[in-house]
Amino acid sequence: MTAQTKLAFWGGLDTIGGNIISIQYEDYRIITDFGALAGVNIMDLLSKETTSSLLEEKKLPKIEGLYNKEALKDFPLEAYEASDIKTIVCLSHLHLDHLGAFGQLPTDLPVYALEDTVDFYLQLDKTNLLPHYQVNWQKVAAEETIEFGPFKIQFHNSDHDTIGAASIFVEAPDLKIIYSGDFRLTGFQPENVLDWARKAKQFEADLFLVEGTTFSHSASEPNPVDVALAEITHSINAPNEMKLMHSIETIAQANPQRLLAFNGYPQNIERLLVLAELMTTLGRTLVMDQTYFELMKPYLTGYLSVKYLDLHHNSEDYSEHAVSLEMLQNSPQHYMVQFDYERHEHIFTLPAGIYFHSNGMPLGSYMPEYEPYVRRFVEAGWDFYHANVSGHASQADLLLVNYLVQAKLVVPWHTFKPAEYGEAIEAIGLKTWLPAYGKEYSSEDIIAFRQAD
Ligand SMILES: [Zn+2]
Ligand SMILES: [Zn+2]
Repeated sequence: MTAQTKLAFWGGLDTIGGNIISIQYEDYRIITDFGALAGVNIMDLLSKETTSSLLEEKKLPKIEGLYNKEALKDFPLEAYEASDIKTIVCLSHLHLDHLGAFGQLPTDLPVYALEDTVDFYLQLDKTNLLPHYQVNWQKVAAEETIEFGPFKIQFHNSDHDTIGAASIFVEAPDLKIIYSGDFRLTGFQPENVLDWARKAKQFEADLFLVEGTTFSHSASEPNPVDVALAEITHSINAPNEMKLMHSIETIAQANPQRLLAFNGYPQNIERLLVLAELMTTLGRTLVMDQTYFELMKPYLTGYLSVKYLDLHHNSEDYSEHAVSLEMLQNSPQHYMVQFDYERHEHIFTLPAGIYFHSNGMPLGSYMPEYEPYVRRFVEAGWDFYHANVSGHASQADLLLVNYLVQAKLVVPWHTFKPAEYGEAIEAIGLKTWLPAYGKEYSSEDIIAFRQAD
C-alpha cells in the first residue's frame, strides 16, 4: 500500500468559524487554521489547565499528537511529546475564529503565517486587542514556497478586514489543495483575490476549501429592534470600502461645524488609515483612542493629522501627539474622535455631533447591549449613522472566485448553509463535496468523489 494524503475535518463545516482541517502524508501533518470552535468562549481557551476538560466537552478537536502530555492529564489521546508525527499549523488570518485555540498548542510547535500577519499580531498582542498566545511563529513571505517533508506550501496575499489575510496552497505528492481563508472583493486590495484565484487555476487544485459566510442568511423577517432603530438613525452601509469613505466625506463636508465620531474595528487598520487621510484633507485631526493610536503607529507614514486623546492628562505636550478632552469640547469642528466601546463614556461630555458606527462594538441587534447603546447616542442629540462594510465576499463574488479557480472538487464551508452554497456552486458547473466530521479521507477517496454523480 503506497502512502496517500489523508484529510480530516475538525470544525467549520456548517458554521462560521472554527475551520480546522488536518492534511497528513506519512509522518508529516499540516493543520489549518486553529480557531475557536463555534460557540466556544475565547477566554476558556487561553489556559492549558483546561485542555482535558475542553476535550471532554468537545470544545477542542480530538487530534492525536497535538496537545502536551501535561495538558492532557488522563485524557485518552496520544501526547505531542509521544508522537512521531511532525506537525505545523498554517494560519490564514488573525480572526479569533481562526486562531482562538492557539493557547492550546505546544509552545514550540511551528505556526506559519505571512510576515504582515505575524507583525500585526505582535502589535495586537502588545495593545491587548488580541489575547497573548505563546507560539513558535514562523514568518512567511507571500508566494514563497515552504517545504515541509513531502509538502510544498505557499501563502498568497488576499483581502479581508484584517491585515495579512492569506489564501494557502498546499501541494502533497498526490493531491493539491487550496484553502481560501476569508476574503472579499470589496476591500482595499481586491486585485489580490483575483491574483490568487488566477494562480489557483494554474495550480490545478484537486480540492478547494472555500469560505461561504454570505451564504448563511436567507431573507427573513427584519428584526424588530432594527426596524425600530431605523426610524431614529441613518445608514450609509456600503457595498465596499471606497463608497463608505465617499459617504463619510459628503456628510463631513455638509457639517463643517460639528464634531465627528467614529467607532470601527481595530483590525481594519486600512479603513482607519484611509479615514485619517480623508480627515487630514478636510482639515480635521483624527483623534484616536490611545490604544488604537499605539496599534496604528507603525502604519502611520507620510503626513497624516492623527493624534490620541489623553484622558488621563499624562501628556506634557498637547501640540505634538496628544489632544485633551477640553480641546475637543472647545473646537469640535477641528476633529473626528475615534473610540472603542470599552472606553466611550467621555464621548457624552462632548458636544453632540455626527456618529459613524463602522463595524465597531456592539456589532448588531443580536447583542443585548446594542439597542440601549444606539438609543443613548440618539437621545444625547447625536446623528447616528450605520457605516458598515462587510469583510466577506457577496454571494455573486464567491461564485465568481469559485469559477475562476476551477478546482476539480470544491468544499463549501465557513457558512451556516453549506448545502445551499454547494448547490449554487454546482449550478455554475463545478463539482462539490460536503465532508463529515470524524472520518479520514484519502486522496483516492477525493478523486472518487469528484467522479461520482
Ligand atoms: Zn472566519
Ligand atoms: Zn475572518
